[in-house]
Amino acid sequence: MRIPFIAGNWKMFKTKAEAAEFAKEFVKLYQGTDVRTAICAPFTDLELLVEAFKDTNIGVGAQNVHFEDEGAFTGEISVKMLEEIGVDYCIVGHSERRQYFGETDETVNKKLKKLFETDIVPIMCVGELLEERDAGKAFEVVGRQLEEGLSGISKEDASKLVIAYEPVWAIGTGRTATPEQAEEMCAFIREGLEKLYDEDTADSVIIQYGGSVKPANATEIMNMPEIDGALVGGASLKPVDFMAIIDF
Ligand code: PEP
Repeated sequence: MRIPFIAGNWKMFKTKAEAAEFAKEFVKLYQGTDVRTAICAPFTDLELLVEAFKDTNIGVGAQNVHFEDEGAFTGEISVKMLEEIGVDYCIVGHSERRQYFGETDETVNKKLKKLFETDIVPIMCVGELLEERDAGKAFEVVGRQLEEGLSGISKEDASKLVIAYEPVWAIGTGRTATPEQAEEMCAFIREGLEKLYDEDTADSVIIQYGGSVKPANATEIMNMPEIDGALVGGASLKPVDFMAIIDF
């Protein structure tokens, strides 16, 4: 049985003071809830959030990591640095990193392998561009991202994975994929996992949908059988909105 998992992605929003304010309000709202959740925040907010959520089940995630242990990589953060802070999750291959910062299936693969040396759970993002969907290539693109991203990763590690299907045309645009479109791709991803590994592994992976999820559309998305949760950008910035999604 897969437990629903709803994660927020703050992107490059919230100073430490703003994160502290969010945490104070969100901890109160979350009390008594048992839905698995996490906030993926900028690096500078992580330590504060780990401390603020320490007596709760709210997880904390980073939004990126480097694949080397250490070295001359100015501006980068290592897995060990995240581990020391007590981070639970790390987003890998978000479309904004693929689009603006040169993330490729190969670097996604290296980052996943490095994270699997620790207990930090990767949230691997896949998803097609609008022109790829319009050209009928959505399944080909997501299939390739999955296969190359997971190349050489054992089924033991893969079974711990969270995958977020985020069609790029639905991120931050207000345009959500229909629940049927999201379900179809999430089912395709699960079939892909079964081909790459086996049925048990495919059944244990959490597959989230991401792309303009808000309180108003969370229920119909979350009710789809192959969708196990959501990766939420804009609507995770306000405690009340994020809580309304968690309470879908
Ligand atoms: C995201 O950042 O992963 C995302 C899905 O953003 P939004 O919910 O704002 O579309």
